[in-house]
Amino acid sequence: MTETILHWSDGKIFAGNSDATAPVTNPATGEVTGRVALADVTDAQHVIDAAAAAFPAWRDTSLAKRTQTLFAFRELLNARKGELAEIITSEHGKVVSDALGEVARGLEVVEFACGIPHLLKGGYSESASTKVDVYSIRQPLGPVAIISPFNFPAMVPMWFFPVAIAAGNTVVIKPSEKDPSAALWMAKLWEEAGLPAGVFNVLQGDKVAVDELLTNPKIKAVSFVGSTPIAQYVYGTGTAAGKRVQALGGAKNHAVVLPDADLDLAADAMVNAGFGSAGERCMAISACVAVGSVADELVAKIAERTRPLVTGDGTREVDMGPLVTRAHRDRVASYVDAGEADGATIVVDGRTVEPQGGADGFWLGPTLIDNVTPEMSVYTDEIFGPVLSVVRVETYDEALALINANPYGNGTAIFTNDGGAARRFQNEVEVGMVGINVPIPVPMAYYSFGGWKASLFGDSHAHGTEGVHFFTRGKVVTSRWLDPSHGGIELGFPQNA
Ligand code: NAD
Repeated sequence: MTETILHWSDGKIFAGNSDATAPVTNPATGEVTGRVALADVTDAQHVIDAAAAAFPAWRDTSLAKRTQTLFAFRELLNARKGELAEIITSEHGKVVSDALGEVARGLEVVEFACGIPHLLKGGYSESASTKVDVYSIRQPLGPVAIISPFNFPAMVPMWFFPVAIAAGNTVVIKPSEKDPSAALWMAKLWEEAGLPAGVFNVLQGDKVAVDELLTNPKIKAVSFVGSTPIAQYVYGTGTAAGKRVQALGGAKNHAVVLPDADLDLAADAMVNAGFGSAGERCMAISACVAVGSVADELVAKIAERTRPLVTGDGTREVDMGPLVTRAHRDRVASYVDAGEADGATIVVDGRTVEPQGGADGFWLGPTLIDNVTPEMSVYTDEIFGPVLSVVRVETYDEALALINANPYGNGTAIFTNDGGAARRFQNEVEVGMVGINVPIPVPMAYYSFGGWKASLFGDSHAHGTEGVHFFTRGKVVTSRWLDPSHGGIELGFPQNA
């Protein structure tokens, strides 16, 4: 009998009414290790009701008490991050050190949110009019939903919930069905940290759960991260239901290598950013754009670094883990097949990998494909696997045009020693996050994370000041303490004097 991974509602495990479940697998062995509950509408309503019931008291909890709870969560998570990393590896497949890195990036947002009192300060204008003072405050929204993808089961929810909770909201997390246990583990940690029941809830499920979160009037805002078609759907449905929505979508990230770049450093960066986490990162580099004369030497350097990489079970001493499911592994491999059929050159072929892991694991080794052209599906589609394509262009302008013509605009990078070229790129490229000799330019927690174009629907990026604004709304108070001089009838629009 495998374990059923359930919901967390009002500070306790909630089994729900629905009998529907989905399998959860260990990608390194192919073994079904558990079954995740798939909520029906009544289950979703039960969890949403718990978040709604907890909101008034949490909203009125002092900033001092709220931040003390956040500090306690931070300490507990830091002390026990190894446990969380192991859970991530067992359901996602990424190597344990990478899972620890994911938790560390999430912790940065918790630390940022510990400073919420400073971020929630409003303005105050004394005597804006005679004996009239005006001030602004920011208030929480209510229960909010966070719907997350499989690739960062801890970090992506942590882009949102520390800020949401610190600002006085209550949350319902809907994890990916593929790796649902990390959110449940974090729920128990919040309880240990002293968070009141009902402030942090976990709703397991699929489209049924998502649709209820998008339409239930008790949910005031939705933060979604996932593929572009679903992000578009979530944004359209949630905003039509009157909610504030930020929906982060898919990506196709390019790294431009100019002829003057340090090719050894650039090749290291391509390998790390192309194959880390088996390419299942929304900020992975999937297209290396080699400008002018560099291509042959650059491809050779990337290939010599790629061949020795060891693919295997993420709990062992390996460089790269498996893909998340067999279906996803086969889909990624089919793009390599299509690239080959379209005439691209397979320089390193991950399809023939000899993994250090179970015979039934979802293995695909790092794959380097050269001479990829923009009409090939291996270039046009988001593959989300360990496949690095090299596109050869003659000039900087050609590289820029290629990136700006792409429907996605999540991350990009340029490798050069020319400050002028880098500055021009930063100015001209239509992408939300730009690296200069940095392949994965994920912003620090006190800046905001988010792409442009089909990589984000909505106005607000995640965390940083945009995150604080997303999870609060502004109110301006005009105040006058009456004295005998304030009398009389005047129906005209108030004039300031
Ligand atoms: P996904 O879109 O399949 O799933 C994301 C979430 O949506 C999950 O919780 C899932 O249960 C739910 N969902 C799936 N189908 C749905 C439907 N028909 N209706 C309503 N909800 C549905 O994404 P994924 O495969 O889990 O994650 C990979 C994708 O996420 C990639 O496209 C990647 O680029 C993207 N991603 C983007 C960012 C970013 O910051 N822009 C970060 C991480 C991942």
